[in-house]
Amino acid sequence: MKSETRVAVIGGGVVGASVLYHLTKAGWKDVLLIERAELTSGSTWHAAGGMHTVNGDPNVAKLQQYTIELYKEIEQISGQSCGVHITGGLMLAGTRERLDWLKMAKARGRYLGMDLEIISVDEAARLFPLMDKKHFKGAMYDPIEGHVDPYGVTHAYAKSAQLGGAEIVRHTRVTDLKARSDGSWDVITDHGNVHAEYVVNAAGLWAREVGRMVGIELPILAMEHQYLITGDMAELKGKKEQLHCIDFEGELYTRQERGGMLLGTYEKAGVPWSPIETPWDFGQDLLANDLERIAPSLEVAFEHFPALGDAGIRKVVNGPFTFAPDGNPLVGPVKGLKNFWVACGVMAGFSQGGGVGLALSRWLIDGDPGADIWGMDVARYGDWTTLAYTNAKVRENYSRRFSIRFPNEELQATRPLRTTPIYEKLQAANAVFGDYCGLEHSLWFAPDAQSAKDEFSFHRSNDFPHIAAECDAVKNSVGLLEISNYGKFEVKGPGAADWLSRVMANRVPAVGRIALTPMLNERGKLIGDFTMCRVAPEHFLLIGTYAAETYYLRWFERHLPGAGVSIRPCAMEYVGLSIAGPNSRALLQELVRDDLSTAAFPFLSFRRMEIGMVQGYVGRVSFTGELGFEIWVTTDYQRALYDLLVSAGRKYDLRPFGGRALNCMRVEKSFGTWTREYRPIYGPFEAALGRFVDFKKEEFIGRAGAMEEKRAGGALRLLSFKLETKDADALGDEPIWHDGRVVGWVTSGAFGHRVNHSLALGYVPAVLAGATSGFEIEIIGERYPAQPLSEAAYDAKGLRMRT
Ligand SMILES: Cc1cc2nc3c(=O)[nH]c(=O)nc-3n(C[C@H](O)[C@H](O)[C@H](O)COP(=O)(O)OP(=O)(O)OC[C@H]3O[C@@H](n4cnc5c(N)ncnc54)[C@H](O)[C@@H]3O)c2cc1C
Repeated sequence: MKSETRVAVIGGGVVGASVLYHLTKAGWKDVLLIERAELTSGSTWHAAGGMHTVNGDPNVAKLQQYTIELYKEIEQISGQSCGVHITGGLMLAGTRERLDWLKMAKARGRYLGMDLEIISVDEAARLFPLMDKKHFKGAMYDPIEGHVDPYGVTHAYAKSAQLGGAEIVRHTRVTDLKARSDGSWDVITDHGNVHAEYVVNAAGLWAREVGRMVGIELPILAMEHQYLITGDMAELKGKKEQLHCIDFEGELYTRQERGGMLLGTYEKAGVPWSPIETPWDFGQDLLANDLERIAPSLEVAFEHFPALGDAGIRKVVNGPFTFAPDGNPLVGPVKGLKNFWVACGVMAGFSQGGGVGLALSRWLIDGDPGADIWGMDVARYGDWTTLAYTNAKVRENYSRRFSIRFPNEELQATRPLRTTPIYEKLQAANAVFGDYCGLEHSLWFAPDAQSAKDEFSFHRSNDFPHIAAECDAVKNSVGLLEISNYGKFEVKGPGAADWLSRVMANRVPAVGRIALTPMLNERGKLIGDFTMCRVAPEHFLLIGTYAAETYYLRWFERHLPGAGVSIRPCAMEYVGLSIAGPNSRALLQELVRDDLSTAAFPFLSFRRMEIGMVQGYVGRVSFTGELGFEIWVTTDYQRALYDLLVSAGRKYDLRPFGGRALNCMRVEKSFGTWTREYRPIYGPFEAALGRFVDFKKEEFIGRAGAMEEKRAGGALRLLSFKLETKDADALGDEPIWHDGRVVGWVTSGAFGHRVNHSLALGYVPAVLAGATSGFEIEIIGERYPAQPLSEAAYDAKGLRMRT
């Protein structure tokens, strides 16, 4: 083994091998892969090798498409067969809701260029005669599904990487990692040490243990997974290879394996493997079979596919593989550690391994993954993901792998975990709660405790009239919303203003003022949006999306100067309440001595105030588009503040409202939000945030890119649409059609109760930005006319929030 390398990749499973290949492909030759045993000695060797393009996150779906297309390339370079079988695949729907879900998946696939088709049960049975039609209502056909040989794929990546200059050492275990002061690493192994500029943790089943070597607890857990292979079946003799098939209601997948069928299941009672520590002596081993555990799924399988029940079992495989809490990979540089990267938690290595390798190599070499990979970014998780949290969420995710997640369905594992001081008070007001980063927050309020629950649906549901009443209260009187679930950062120091001016695109506000600002990366693309509040000359409060806290901190860390600025995340130190509506000023004025008139405290003002006996920051701003105030207090004051506002609010008919009403109102105002309208694939002018980019500043990150976008006009444009729908609204990710062609996608949708019609926000090509007709949006398989709006649907001039 060499003693110096630019990149040390730990782990020779399919993911590590792909990372290594992509680094060499991008031109980095001085790279080394270190493998404890033989290549594939983790989950890779016993995988079923299935691959498909469908994923709930369209950006991850794109990387899956890339992975499948890559196999030809690595076969050609390496001469190693990947054993690719493209059979095509069926997803079978046993219920109406599942068929709706498939129609939505098909629609989402349209703008990704996927050739998916909804077919009848008869057509499905013609393609897959093993199924018993009576259990199904329809199916989706995907021509690009199939399976590969896990050994072949891993070795094809590895050989291609070696031909590109990489070195691979086997039978060498990394036992420790020591950081040097310049950010490089001493990689300690049982066969000598190597000094590496970068380390990539691709240790699969042991990624958690390798993380612990550098003091982090990665949110991953391995689950036992079983599949069986039947004996040879007469039904398959002399026939074309069977399609891959997923039976959602049976929670199983099946495909042909030689003369029999392979049948795997994600059972409800899944079992974690090595929940605390993965043994180092586990190698190309299998776990003991437990057919009892999957018996309920097998019963369904033999009912739905009767011939399988008669075929006998030739072999059972039980092996572990790792998951993150949401089932998507963990990729990227780790906050707080210099030059330490991860590529782990990959539960579908043969669909995703190529995409993971591509994104990581680009990111490491160019400083940018080159695609929107928020869905797999390791920074989407924060400090709340303890070992026990991860355990509960991974088990839940495993048990729901083939379950429908309705848009209004909140998952239940781990809850309630994090609560604010007013949680019980909101509960007493019949709040229906959602979970955001492990924190409970109210979604809507029911009239009584019995009806305080969601009826899951893709259509408008039981919350609809109550959300309407909440929006009405905000429009006509005053509403109260808890806003604790935002990320907050305190920025202080003599260099704070200059630093913020460089990191944020808008101008730094004066003391006592707020500026709304995008944050751009070096290419001028959106990587955040913030409310920047100036408390004092050298003291700022930044408010942004909580889920992106780690993501933001990683970026801030990279750009902080050595001295003069300190930044501190303080999301849960400041909890908040917002009041919004025409009576919000009168209400608050009863509690504070400061003059709240527009002349004395205009829109976008920010000041420390005493609200009764409570001390806090008051900002004159509201995401609802109404006159409104956001009040931030330390946790100890929140109960008192809530009681004060509720009691003073009685005479104004103050009504609590939740996150769903807020979403309706921000869509009416065409206000975007991070991960929906604002993501790193969009520029500020495309996202209609151009007015928040201050080119008078001579320098800020992304200035040149944003300037070029402004000059050239950008490729996309965010538009608001008025929709003529029946009983369902757009949710996000639906295709936007224009003159019979799919031209874009929806980012958010909602019913606008204040304007009394359905609305959607979405991106279309910039050349269509001026088109006034011809648009349609597809919702659950039906296309509805969509009228582009030249301005926000509600109070376009913004007079209500400014008066
Ligand atoms: C039963 C079963 C069926 C599956 N079916 C499918 C399927 O159909 N389709 C699909 O896409 N996926 C499937 N998978 C999942 C798939 O196996 C994983 O997604 C994939 O193997 C993950 O690869 P990896 O490289 O991340 O991890 P691993 O395969 O676990 O590789 C990690 C490697 O790192 C090495 N290593 C760890 N620590 C060290 C260290 N300290 N020093 C040196 N080396 C180290 C290990 O020896 C190992 O070789 C299945 C898994 C199982 C168990």
